Amino acid sequence: MSDTITGNRALLIEEPLIFEQDSPGRSGIDLPAFQPAAQRLNGLRRQGPIGLPGLSEPQVVRHYTRLSQKNFGIDTGFYPLGSCTMKHNPRLGEKMARLAGFGDLHPLQPASTVQGALELIDSLAGWLKDLTGLPAVAMSPAAGAHGELCGLMTIRAAHEAKGNPRQIVLVPESAHGTNPATAALCGYQVVAVPANARGRVDLAALEAKLDGKVAAFMLTNPNTCGLFEDQILEIAKAVHQVGAYFYCDGANFNALVGRVRMADLGIDCMHINLHKTFATPHGGGGPGAGPTVLSAALAPFAPVPFVVHGPNGFELVEEAGQGPAKQSLGRLKGFHGQFGVFVRALAYILSMGSDGLRQASSDAVLNANYLLARLKDVLSLSFEGPCMHEVLFDDRFLRDTGVTTLDVAKALIDEGFHPMTMYFPLVVHGALLMEPTETESKDGLDRFIAVVRALAARAKAGDQAFFHAAPHHTPRRRLDETQAARAPVLRWRKAD
Ligand SMILES: *Cc1c(COP(=O)(O)O)cnc(C)c1O
Repeated sequence: MSDTITGNRALLIEEPLIFEQDSPGRSGIDLPAFQPAAQRLNGLRRQGPIGLPGLSEPQVVRHYTRLSQKNFGIDTGFYPLGSCTMKHNPRLGEKMARLAGFGDLHPLQPASTVQGALELIDSLAGWLKDLTGLPAVAMSPAAGAHGELCGLMTIRAAHEAKGNPRQIVLVPESAHGTNPATAALCGYQVVAVPANARGRVDLAALEAKLDGKVAAFMLTNPNTCGLFEDQILEIAKAVHQVGAYFYCDGANFNALVGRVRMADLGIDCMHINLHKTFATPHGGGGPGAGPTVLSAALAPFAPVPFVVHGPNGFELVEEAGQGPAKQSLGRLKGFHGQFGVFVRALAYILSMGSDGLRQASSDAVLNANYLLARLKDVLSLSFEGPCMHEVLFDDRFLRDTGVTTLDVAKALIDEGFHPMTMYFPLVVHGALLMEPTETESKDGLDRFIAVVRALAARAKAGDQAFFHAAPHHTPRRRLDETQAARAPVLRWRKAD
């Protein structure tokens, strides 16, 4: 806690909850006196006061403005959160998404009145198909994890159509937690595939686990160690030989856009996190979008709704079990997907152009390799480089210092950086996964590198006390994160 009189730390204001600021009867507006109307709600009529706090307009403005400033985001600073692709979101996308013709649509409007919106979905789908080389895409999944669900449900439906849904989904040890969770949700038994000493899938171990019970193999490429799976063609061949499907977790597509078409790697199905690769704002729980590209064999099972070209323009296919959706697995979500995210993603794609997209993925890889080259002598690089768009270190450099990955992350907060991804992937001890993205300048990377180098030196010099007390400058210091997760206090109650 701060030792100032107010509890404030300079311009960081220590403020009570909005309910604690309640001054009954205070209001920002004058309303005409309430005229009791005929009562039509019977037993549903409110019995007591509504319980909203009484506040003046300036109080409300200050409260929400301060809350917005407590949020760290890519708009305020460097955010090298590995696997999450926290890149700059161009303002052009915001402007396009707010155009009345897009922003004011209602999803129940007749298709004839929203031809432009359907064309936008269709053009974005076209780009996603071109960039991956796969012939179909399900646009409705609302996030990456939802895209995984779409992909595995599609795979399950395809196996079922052949008479046997199969029992097992294989997942590498380094996989993101959503992969095994998705497979389990789809009723599959999850079997882990170990990595080899080079941080890639152990091909022999994979082959040993592949048989007619396996429905799919889920792989992230580049994988969550930031490495390209260089045996992917052999992997695809082995997976297909037993009649299984090859699912790719596309969260790391930012490393490959414009350079590799996933279809050429033997992928049958991949979700694309538009909010990562295609620069739409995310974090704090949404919104995202996870369109899922599908091979010709999987396409007939895609969820509804989808857009088709009809004789009089674009049409929406909304009913499963008939027409072009005869074999569709049904609906995954109300309506057509995250339309606002589609607008931003297409604005990004069109403003970049195919050459710009390719340049962006190349620069993302270059930036990560710059971090690798400038930090590998002071941190411990987990696997030999070069890396793709993110670089993985582990905590061997902290051995016998009494300082942990978590302590280093807390010290980075004091320096004004969002920490990298910590303790993921699980294949190395005390992981520090850094993803700078292409939108960070060399100056910005150099500032970060200087701080990380200084912190590594301080840890090795044995300054445990400094690290254990970090962060020193935040309004709240070390929180009991376990307690917060196990016993969250989500509701304010008036003190008696
Ligand atoms: C982000 C991510 C996901 C999940 O995507 P969401 O959009 O957050 O649901 C899955 N796998 C990997 C590797 C990721 O980085």
